[in-house]
This record gives sequence, structure tokens and C-alpha cells, in this order.
Amino acid sequence: MQETVTYELKEHLKSERLKIALEVNTLIRRKMSDILVKEGFIEIPPVIFSSVTDPLNHPVYDPTFDYEGTRYSLTKSMIFHKQMIVQAIPKVYTFSPNVRLETADKAKSGRHLLEFTQLDLEMLDSTREDAMKIGEKLVSGAIKEVTEKMPGKLKILGRELHVPKTPFKVYKYTEAKEKYGKDFEQTLSELEKEPFWIIDIPLKEREFYDREKDDEKGILRDMDLMYPEGFNEAISGGEREYEIERIKERILAKGQTFEQFKWFLDYAEGGLRLSSGFGIGIERLIRYICGFERIEETHPFPKTPGKFSI
Ligand code: ASP
Ligand code: MG
Repeated sequence: MQETVTYELKEHLKSERLKIALEVNTLIRRKMSDILVKEGFIEIPPVIFSSVTDPLNHPVYDPTFDYEGTRYSLTKSMIFHKQMIVQAIPKVYTFSPNVRLETADKAKSGRHLLEFTQLDLEMLDSTREDAMKIGEKLVSGAIKEVTEKMPGKLKILGRELHVPKTPFKVYKYTEAKEKYGKDFEQTLSELEKEPFWIIDIPLKEREFYDREKDDEKGILRDMDLMYPEGFNEAISGGEREYEIERIKERILAKGQTFEQFKWFLDYAEGGLRLSSGFGIGIERLIRYICGFERIEETHPFPKTPGKFSI
């Protein structure tokens, strides 16, 4: 494990590329906050650790600790916190620091960090399509802001970036997989010139919390946004299961336990309404805007899967 990191820290901290990436970070966070506030969203503070967090649908190490007789996890995503508070405050967002201790093989992707920030939002009484509209506004708004305010810096990076047209193209997961094969997400990401959606993702590919279609068993009312030019995943989100019996069924179908989600289930027993939302990885968005091969370049202190980091 104690390998050297993939870059020299001193050089990295002094580099022009990092400074530009952090200027992009500053600009897009402000721009996306402005867009959301205009849409009536309220910012909530992040949750760093909790007794309930996102189970995710792929294996990661679980950083937990005991405190006063309770087992806590570091936040993998604020999915349940969002779904609970949105019942009272109908449009919420947060810049949420997440820890996902990915396995070492993920380092190859160039888009995984063990510690990252996502702009995580949720909307009450809203459909997947409502959430997709906001996602398009945020992504195209952030890109537009950088192309307008930082053209010289993009030139230094050798990055040619254009503002994508909305609405973005939509692919259905199963159809795209049939047509482009197992690696269809990367294949399509390399083929496409603009961001695009993948919708109707099968249940077995996702966590229990995204809502299953009423008219198509095993298929969810959810979506991923993909970047073009091979940059891959930008957003994950969907409509949520909100009926307690369906939530419980889905937890059991995943082989998970009610105990794991106790606080959320207790809250859900009191009745939830439909909500939708998604998370945008901030470092991934910066990577795409800057055209970096590796996500480490977006962060002063990046944590690469399987590598030692300070
Ligand atoms: N925040 C969720 C995640 O990290 C995305 C969502 O809102 O569905 O997967
Ligand atoms: Mg997810």
C-alpha cells in the first residue's frame, strides 16, 4: 500500500494546472449555487458521519467507528438525509464530502477518488424528468460560465470546450447495452460529442432506494448523466421509493437488513412523499471542463484508490 503517489506533491501544488482547476472549482460552485437558489433551493449543511449511509451497489471498504455505543459510518452519500429533509423543505442541496474506500482496481479509471465532493440535491413531489431538467441547467450553466469567464485559462490547458445544447440526448439502458455491448457506457461516452442521459437502469445495477417502475418490473425510474469524449459518468440519480412496504421489500431483495437503515425506516414509517434528485461529482465535472486525463489533477490532496496519500 505504501506506494508513492502518481504525482510529485510539491510540483503538483505549485502547478498552473492545479491553480486553474481550483479557479474552475470556485467558479462552478458559485454558479451552480446561484442557479439552484434562483430555482428556490435551500442549502443544507453536509453530514460527515452517520449511523445510516448509502449502501452503494458495488463493494467498498466501510470506514466505521463506535461512539457511545453506536456504530457510525463516514458518509458515502447523503441519500437518506436528503430524502428525509426534503419532506419538510421541498428543494434542498448540499456540497457533500463523501468517503468511498474503493478497491485498488478503480485507480485505472482516472475518475475515482476515495474522498470527493458531490453536489447532492433532492426535490419533493418531483419526477425524474424534473430532476433531469435541473441537471441539464447545472451542467450546461457551469460549462457556459467557465467558457465565458476563463477562456484564456482553458487555452493554457489546451482545452476546447463548447456549451452543450439542451435537452441532452437520452438512451435507455437495456437498449444501449444490446446495441453497444457490455462496455456500452464507455463506448457511448467516446462516441458522443455532448453530455447524454442513460435512463431506466435495471434494479440489479442500482441501490434499493431508486423507484421501480409500476409498469415494468425490475426497471427503475432513474438516470445517469454521462460526459462525452470518454469522460464517462457525471451524475447519478432518480425518483425514490417512498412507500414503506416497497422500501422494505427492496432492502430485503438486496440482502440488506432493516437494522442498517433503522433511522431512515423509522422516519419513513411516518409516511414519505415522492421525491427525485441526484448527485454531481464536483471533481469529475472539473476534470471534464479542464480536459484532464486523471481526476487527481483537480484536487490539491487527491486520494487515489489503492495508493498511499497524505
Ligand atoms: N447521491 C447519490 C449517490 O451518490 C445519487 C442520488 O442522489 O441518487 O449515488
Ligand atoms: Mg447512487
